[in-house]
Amino acid sequence: MDPIEEACRFAPYYQDSCRERVDAPVLEGKNHCRIAVIGGGLAGVCTALGLAERGVTGVTLVEAEEIGFGASGRNGGFVFGGYSLGNQALIDRLGLPRARQLYQATVDGIELLRARIKRYAIDCDLSEAGVLWANWFRNPEVLLRTQRMMAEAYGVEWQLLNAEELAERVTSPRYFGALFEPRAFHVQPLAMVRGLARAATEQGAALHQHSSVIGMTRDAQGVRLIGRDFELRAEQVVVAGGGYLHGYFKPLQAAMLPIATYVMVTEPLRERLGSCLRTASAVYDTRFAFDYYRPLADSRILWGGRISIRDRDPEDLARILARDLRRVFPQLGRVRVESAWTGSMSYARHEMPQIGQISADTWYAQAFGGHGLVPTTVAGETLASALAGEPSPLLESFGQFGLDSVYRQVGLGLLGAQARYSWLQCCDWWRSLTRR
Ligand SMILES: Cc1cc2nc3c(=O)[nH]c(=O)nc-3n(C[C@H](O)[C@H](O)[C@H](O)COP(=O)(O)OP(=O)(O)OC[C@H]3O[C@@H](n4cnc5c(N)ncnc54)[C@H](O)[C@@H]3O)c2cc1C
Repeated sequence: MDPIEEACRFAPYYQDSCRERVDAPVLEGKNHCRIAVIGGGLAGVCTALGLAERGVTGVTLVEAEEIGFGASGRNGGFVFGGYSLGNQALIDRLGLPRARQLYQATVDGIELLRARIKRYAIDCDLSEAGVLWANWFRNPEVLLRTQRMMAEAYGVEWQLLNAEELAERVTSPRYFGALFEPRAFHVQPLAMVRGLARAATEQGAALHQHSSVIGMTRDAQGVRLIGRDFELRAEQVVVAGGGYLHGYFKPLQAAMLPIATYVMVTEPLRERLGSCLRTASAVYDTRFAFDYYRPLADSRILWGGRISIRDRDPEDLARILARDLRRVFPQLGRVRVESAWTGSMSYARHEMPQIGQISADTWYAQAFGGHGLVPTTVAGETLASALAGEPSPLLESFGQFGLDSVYRQVGLGLLGAQARYSWLQCCDWWRSLTRR
């Protein structure tokens, strides 16, 4: 296998450690349904599950590869509040009442995910250890300001840890204190999306893998989705293809950029793990270009970071990420990387999810960026309630973030995104020189 193809083979560590299975046969021949969902990532699966839980029948989901093949089965596994657009920026953009409504939707989304994992007995290594946001810079003001803003604006208590308190849990010369988000948790994400997909089938939705939609037409009877070996007629369609969206969906593709990020898993570290982590919490940091990582039950560290328009081969990924790991935990010395992969996230220019209706029979949920586990749950609930004919107050709020072009056709969007990331990396570097 070509090395880049190998890196893109989805999340080998997650595949090997996943006990959840989904029954989703290939779709063949002529088929009818009321609501067709395209994409078996979290956005598509949560929409199908939300519809089935509301008693909506005739729901069919089609996935080009396998359930969880995209970002949903490759990610860091952090389940936390908010969106890719930061919490303060959300207020600046929308004003307090709307920002509060959208943030609260993610607080509810965390609880819904937790409840679903329990209700459907999803075997996904749930760790109720919260998430730490570690300060890379020597300016405690950032933590204090954020803690105050989260409490006053959003009514959420994030706990402040000073440098000594953090060092008891995370020993790194890089950090200067942290904020702790106690209601957050982390999971094995491929197992979670497969478990949610299993739940959707148990609730009556039909799921199909290896069933790529390559075309879409309309006639008097509704929409006709075309695959290589199937045709699927539907009254309504939800498109949820994330950064992997392909086929005939030009206005949706033109509104988001597929951006890669990298993950690796170390060898089991055994007693060496205690020299750097004495907590089960997941950790990320205050830089724009932050690292994100979490200890696994078998004493490995799952480590992620970087944003790029490039895919790389696994040796490159392992080398880059191992260097990042050593920078944070020099006491570990050399660590063997057992597995490394890339994943593609979809980003909108406004950094918020795109959730809405593009025509009388077509809906969409995409552009969750690097902060999607909870917002995809929110999207699924928003679209499921709208399609089930219930009031869906969030639809209007998300509607403010439209399908603005990212100038993908001329390549400017991707180059712009890479240039912005490199520029913000330089800003991180400059701040770390001046604030240390
Ligand atoms: C490496 C990595 C780390 C991340 N870490 C975190 C984290 O820790 N916490 C967090 O909140 N978020 C994280 N994210 C972001 C999060 O994973 C995503 O925002 C979220 O999973 C997006 O879900 P989705 O359903 O929109 O897309 P995807 O999961 O990408 O699913 C889209 C699916 O649609 C299918 N598809 C596309 N086109 C078609 C078609 N024509 N026909 C049929 N099927 C089609 C694809 O095959 C794919 O399976 C991370 C992302 C990556 C890549």
